[in-house]
Amino acid sequence: MVEGAGLENRYTPLGYRGFESRSLRHWNTDEIPMDTADVIIIGGGIAGTSAAFHLAEHGRSVTLLERGAIASEASGVNAGGVGALGWGNVPDLESYLTMGSLQIFKRLQLELGYDVEFRASGGLQAIQTAEQYEFARDRALSLKARGYVAELLTVNEARAIEPELSPSLKGAMYFPLRGQADPVKTTRAFADAARNLGAEILTDREVTGIAQSADGTYEVVCHEAAFHARNLVLAAGAWCGPLGKILGVSIPVVPVRGQMWATEPLPPRVFHGLSGAESYAYWSDDSGAGPDTPPELTHLGERRITRHLYGRQTRDGGVIFGGDRQLVGYDRTVDATGVEANFAHAAEVLPFLNGVAISRTWSGLMPFSLDGKPIIGKIPLLDNLYVVTGLASSGFGRGPMAGKLIADYLHTGHRPQVLAESDPGRCVTPL
Ligand SMILES: Cc1cc2nc3c(=O)[nH]c(=O)nc-3n(C[C@H](O)[C@H](O)[C@H](O)COP(=O)(O)OP(=O)(O)OC[C@H]3O[C@@H](n4cnc5c(N)ncnc54)[C@H](O)[C@@H]3O)c2cc1C
Repeated sequence: MVEGAGLENRYTPLGYRGFESRSLRHWNTDEIPMDTADVIIIGGGIAGTSAAFHLAEHGRSVTLLERGAIASEASGVNAGGVGALGWGNVPDLESYLTMGSLQIFKRLQLELGYDVEFRASGGLQAIQTAEQYEFARDRALSLKARGYVAELLTVNEARAIEPELSPSLKGAMYFPLRGQADPVKTTRAFADAARNLGAEILTDREVTGIAQSADGTYEVVCHEAAFHARNLVLAAGAWCGPLGKILGVSIPVVPVRGQMWATEPLPPRVFHGLSGAESYAYWSDDSGAGPDTPPELTHLGERRITRHLYGRQTRDGGVIFGGDRQLVGYDRTVDATGVEANFAHAAEVLPFLNGVAISRTWSGLMPFSLDGKPIIGKIPLLDNLYVVTGLASSGFGRGPMAGKLIADYLHTGHRPQVLAESDPGRCVTPL
């Protein structure tokens, strides 16, 4: 690693501060820096740390640069829900991301010995109206016909396995493969496992500039220090857009604010991951997508269009729920009205919540691509440039495998077949 002092004697000074740069600068040198790593990863969320771990397992030398702490953004503040419906008869990218991640969660906890609070809890989705019931019935039939694992339960069947569910529900979808885990512990476990395999995991390093030498080596600048590598992986979640600008490419990912609330620790009362069918029924008719708006948000501008709900009880006893997905730029201010609406929705599903107070609220920014699909692969406009983002509202459950797939791609030089669906070439353009 080269720290700032003396850099200017060997390289053209870059002088980047912030994201003002609009194009990638090139520097001329015949000399490959002594400290060149195989790979630099920008971003210490679930995608970046998983990529670092899997690349280190492949024996590659990796430097991960994170501007805050590991798991300081979406990967540390999410609900910890792990979604999985099975491989299906014809496994697609979604099957790989979810089922592959499930295997990695189990490996992390059961083989590598990290207590990430993983539990194969199963998930229940509350059905509250006749309309939602019709939607859920069709969805269950369609999922089963395609080889996925889902059941439509009567309300009593659902209450037999989740006793606190409201008797006034019309039923519930049951997803037995779903799980849950602690987001901070999981993301830090990947970072720790990567470090144990020799990866350099550096925090408090905000990348403010990137340059490329004539021979293709990347120079990545964090304030006073510069780092060099042949390969660069952008794993900066909702901030891949600004990083892309430094490189002269437009990566169509926007920040979508998600917010959550928690109760004080309670005795064990909620055993599955819980969600609501309301938003899914709404989005099946109208995804709300527009030229600058990703699909499946809860708000269009200020206006609420549907209510989304997910949550669980954590190991420490707190019941946590969230659901709103709103485009408000990089603003993380919690909207109290949204929290109230979400709490009311959760209490319709779990009536005992009416007697419980909210003790804490928080928010985070999710990386939504404009077409709603992940962006995982090689950016064709520059050499050896990879990206893993667009994991949207389910990146905790999909991030471990997203990181592994990008690691396998970079290491082997061959694109895993399933990444055809997430090819950055479809949407990343020159600025
Ligand atoms: C409230 C909420 C609830 C959610 N619930 C769930 C859930 O239950 N299940 C689920 O599967 N998903 C959930 N998600 C979504 C999930 O958290 C995200 O999809 C996932 O964490 C994205 O991971 P990431 O690594 O791509 O991005 P991030 O976790 O955002 O990581 C990107 C990292 O890059 C760093 N970075 C950015 N710019 C720079 C720079 N210039 N230099 C250095 N570092 C930089 C950031 O500091 C950040 O740590 C939820 C999200 C939120 C906000």
